[in-house]
Amino acid sequence: MLETSLAGSLPKPAWLAEPQKLWAAWRLEGAVLAEGKRDAVLACIKRQEDAGIDIVTDGEQSRHHFVHGFLVGLSGLDFEHKRTIGIRNNRYKAEAPVVTGAIKRIRPVHGDEVRFMRAHTKKQIKFTLPGPMTIVDTLADDHYRSREKLAFAFAEALNAEARDLEAGGADVIQFDEPAFNVFPGEVRDWGIAALERAAAGLKCKTAVHICYGYGIAANLAWKQTLGGQWRQYEDVFPLLAKSGIGQVSLECANSKVPIELLGLLKGKDVLVGAIDVANETAETPEQVAATIRTALKHVPAENLFPCTNCGMAPMAADLAWQKVEALAKGAAIVRRELGSNR
Ligand code: ZN
Repeated sequence: MLETSLAGSLPKPAWLAEPQKLWAAWRLEGAVLAEGKRDAVLACIKRQEDAGIDIVTDGEQSRHHFVHGFLVGLSGLDFEHKRTIGIRNNRYKAEAPVVTGAIKRIRPVHGDEVRFMRAHTKKQIKFTLPGPMTIVDTLADDHYRSREKLAFAFAEALNAEARDLEAGGADVIQFDEPAFNVFPGEVRDWGIAALERAAAGLKCKTAVHICYGYGIAANLAWKQTLGGQWRQYEDVFPLLAKSGIGQVSLECANSKVPIELLGLLKGKDVLVGAIDVANETAETPEQVAATIRTALKHVPAENLFPCTNCGMAPMAADLAWQKVEALAKGAAIVRRELGSNR
């Protein structure tokens, strides 16, 4: 009960990539980089286990960025001539690869990574992939000229990859769709359908992560414009509740999301973000417990999975690990209150 996991990423060790930076360059190359990534994954699994996290991730230690990491196994993309585009409705700028031809998965991307994890932990494993809409929103497109058509091309590729991850031992496959908060019309028109296509046929648990982003300056400024109550989830939750996706991961700690909106996810597992990723202080276990107790008023305990608000890639490592420990301890407090050891 109240099994804990992280939304996805963790800081990379300073010897692997420049710390506290998104899109940070690798500090190793070639075979040494490959070995370094595996060592970073091992360390990150061990620290999650020691902290008491129930469902571990690889902390996205092996990928450059949560979206572009997956794209390296696909055809139809030009990584040589990146273009600066405004993403998430122009909230911030990114150097984006350009779609120049048909999108096809030409090789497995993360299969070896999940098999490596499976060989080195007895815990359940969650593996993250970017969702179709978020990929589309993080690229320039000179070929499809339709966000919907492009999203379905990515959904096909994601589905092939996800089946491979499932076969490799992933217990949960999560699609990250932060773009769902930005384009509610597209979510309704094709976003959910593309997401379901990406998850089609999977027998493991499936999850979608939606959120208000990392604690970087552009996101903090955007949040200032959203008013006193963040009701974006109100449009998206009823659609997700009707979808075939099993779990929804979202932001609850220090957020202005009205907590009663969780009630719109009836029947789904809810990964309740009880750790803020946009502040400089670690939560106390008691603060985590308080967030979980509030969420329990709207989500049955058997469907509630304490989690972080979002990825922690750009955070200082010490702070991130303090937060991970607080998450596990806070969940344990509430478990004891509910009379459960698990
Ligand atoms: Zn997020």
